[in-house]
Order: sequence, then C-alpha cells, then structure tokens
Amino acid sequence: MNLYGQELAKQYANANQQAIRFITEIVEKYHLECEFTKEPAYVYTQDEESVASINKELLAALSLGLPAEAVESIELPINIKKTGIRFENQAQFHPRKYVLALAKLFTDLGGVLYEKTKAVKLDPKNKIVQTDNHAITAKHIVVATHYPCFTEGHMFFARMSPYTSYITGVRRNSILNSGMYINIDSHIHSFRYTNTKNYQLLLLGGESHKTGHGQDETLRYKALHDYADELYPDMSVAYNWSAQDYITIDYIPYIGLLSEDYEDIYVGTGYGKWGMTNGTAAALVIRDLIKQGSNPWQDVYSPSRHMTVDGFKKNLVADSIMNAGNFISSHYKVNHKDIAHLEQGQGDILKLDHRKVAVYRDHHNKYYFLDPTCPHLKCVVTFNDAEKNMGLPLSWIKV
Ligand SMILES: Cc1cc2nc3c(=O)[nH]c(=O)nc-3n(C[C@H](O)[C@H](O)[C@H](O)COP(=O)(O)OP(=O)(O)OC[C@H]3O[C@@H](n4cnc5c(N)ncnc54)[C@H](O)[C@@H]3O)c2cc1C
Repeated sequence: MNLYGQELAKQYANANQQAIRFITEIVEKYHLECEFTKEPAYVYTQDEESVASINKELLAALSLGLPAEAVESIELPINIKKTGIRFENQAQFHPRKYVLALAKLFTDLGGVLYEKTKAVKLDPKNKIVQTDNHAITAKHIVVATHYPCFTEGHMFFARMSPYTSYITGVRRNSILNSGMYINIDSHIHSFRYTNTKNYQLLLLGGESHKTGHGQDETLRYKALHDYADELYPDMSVAYNWSAQDYITIDYIPYIGLLSEDYEDIYVGTGYGKWGMTNGTAAALVIRDLIKQGSNPWQDVYSPSRHMTVDGFKKNLVADSIMNAGNFISSHYKVNHKDIAHLEQGQGDILKLDHRKVAVYRDHHNKYYFLDPTCPHLKCVVTFNDAEKNMGLPLSWIKV
C-alpha cells in the first residue's frame, strides 16, 4: 500500500483472497485428499518498537476488506506485545498431496503432462519450446519455472533476488490446536502444525537470508533447533528442510505477459515465499489473459509495471550494490589449499593447474569437478555447506 496506493493494494489482496477461495472450491468439488483445513493465521510481534507497525498493518488490512481482527494473545508459548492480528479462514494443506491430486484431476479431464522433460530453449518469436529430443510448438507458452529460464533480455536477475529459509519439523508431547503464526521482528519465525498418523509435528521456519550470503548453513538449523528447544523442552527434531524462493524488488510477483514484444508468452515468478496463493493467482490471471485478454488484477502483477517509487529505487540500488559486491568477490574468491586438504563432505573453489575449479569431495573420497563460472553472467559459484551443492550467488541457480 505504501508503494502503490490503495487501488493496487486492493487488487493484490483480492487476488490472494480469490486464490484461497479457488483452492477451497476445487478441493471440495473434486474431493482432493490433501489434509485441507481452514485455519486462522496470526501475525504478531514481541518487540515494543513493532507495535505501531502491527497496528498500521491491521488498519491497512481492514481498509482492504480482509478478514482481520486484533488479538492480545496467541496459543504459542510466546509473550506477544498484546497486539497481534488474526486473519480468519485461511487455508492450510499438504502442498505435495494437493499438487499430486491436482495433476491427477488434470490428466483425468484429458490434460497431458510430460514429466522429466526439460525445456532447453525457448524461441519466443515462433513460439517453440525445445526439449532434449523434441520441439513443441504452442499457441500460448507460460514460463513458470521458478526462476524464469530463457528470459535473459528481461533482466529478472536484477529485478528479484533468491532467499533461502529453513524449516525444522519437531515432535512434541503436547499439541497445538489451531493456527498458523508468523512474527514481524528482525528474527522472523513461522509456525504451523501437521498431524501425522502417530504424532503431531510442529513446523518451525526461520533463519532466512539472501542466498549465497549465508555462510555456514548448518548453524542456521542449529539456531532453529535451539529456539524450538527453548519454547518446547519436550521436543525432538524429526526433519529439516531448506527452501529457496525469489523476492522481487517491490515484493510483488511478476505475473502476465513476458513483454510487449511477443504475444502469447507469459511468465509467473517472484512469489516471495507466498507461492501457494500467488501461484494460484498467477494461474487465474494468465488463464484470463489467454481466454479473454484481461484480468482485474493484471496491473498490480504486470511484469512490465513502471516502478518509479522511492522505496523501490532504494531497494534496487541496495540490491544492485550487493549483487555487484557478490559478483566482484566471487571472482577473487579462490582457495589456494591443496585438493587433498579438502575435507570429506566439503566443496570449495580451488586453483588447480592455474585454473579455477569448483571441487566437491564426498564421504567416499570421490571428487567432483565443475567449471565454476556461470556462462551467462560470468559470476562464480559458491558452496552451500548444509545442502552440499554449488550455486550462483546472483540468481542461485543450483549446479
Ligand atoms: C519448505 C517450504 C515451505 C513453504 N511454505 C510456504 C507457505 O506456507 N505458503 C506459501 O504460500 N508458500 C510457501 N513456500 C513457497 C512456495 O512453495 C513457493 O513460493 C512456490 O513453490 C514457488 O512456485 P513456482 O511455481 O514459482 O516454482 P516451483 O514450485 O519451484 O516450480 C517450478 C517448476 O518448474 C520446473 N522447471 C524448472 N526449470 C525447468 C525447465 N527448464 N524445463 C522444465 N521444467 C522446469 C521445476 O522442476 C518445478 O517443477 C514454501 C516453500 C518451501 C520449500
């Protein structure tokens, strides 16, 4: 609302509310098995300085017609600053089960899905998608590949950044009765539960950082485990995951026509860790653009929207400086240690035979070698200690 005003904020709010209604209707109509429940979602703070922001957020939500109300306490063992927001009737479901059920419904209705089929080239002019063995010609093409591939000229790497966040699943003796929770403090944490056959699992998320700027990722999990232990001394860690998602420079996804240059090539990206509703909104917007040429929310999501707002410019400058710093440091970052001194389970950029090489040594002393330089932007990969993979710091495309 601060960036674009009431009208476009309302489009964004409506799109996300409509996405929840769409998911609810499709789950109910086709009996999709995905542990779907309607739950309240809470936003809270533990920081006195953020109380004003929560109050402002509540007023903004109410002015947009969102189902929000103030609360003074929450079910978590956390003392909130007597001000939280409760959003009624939000959707909680098992995303993998939902997507699998949706895919089955799609194919049952006559749709065709090709799995394990990688697009390797896009010819937007002639509307051809090239795979390893085939060329597919289409009337409409939607690039929905998380980071939009084959869109080099559209500068997505400069218009959004990858962020990594971590989730731990902890088993507890007591149970959480309802709700999804997120705070707005400097250390953001989120909570939700899922019931397995034998026990309840609490999913605690947090420790988000710009991808490639994270240093030791294993410490991120440790911080989450310590926090879970502090809140629930009876807990035991059962699972760990990390997620990567793109956040655009003005925090609003890019959904719609890729560019005015090509008709019928669409993009959906930059969902900012909110891909379940924003991804669904993307499907609704692009469906309408294809079928009827317009959609009520197309302006707020437009990939070619004019971003002339001060806040956006500051973000762009800050991000560009960070990316430039990353680009330069990635070029000079080379470790001169001997390959034999690389520990098992570790990767690094080493100088071998006067050449920079990305090297990984696995737990059986097998070595893997990669050219560390991205052929596109020429930046150099960095090693992710927790996931044991190498990625590009500017776009964090994993290699
Ligand atoms: C643990 C975790 C928890 C999360 N929690 C939430 C939450 O509570 N709420 C929420 O809204 N969001 C949540 N998110 C974020 C949400 O999952 C993402 O925003 C969303 O998945 C991004 O959707 P996407 O379609 O852009 O990308 P993806 O889901 O990554 O889908 C992109 C697809 O494109 C395919 N692809 C890529 N390149 C090619 C190619 N060249 N050829 C063919 N196919 C290709 C990929 O294989 C993939 O299937 C969470 C994410 C994680 C991992």
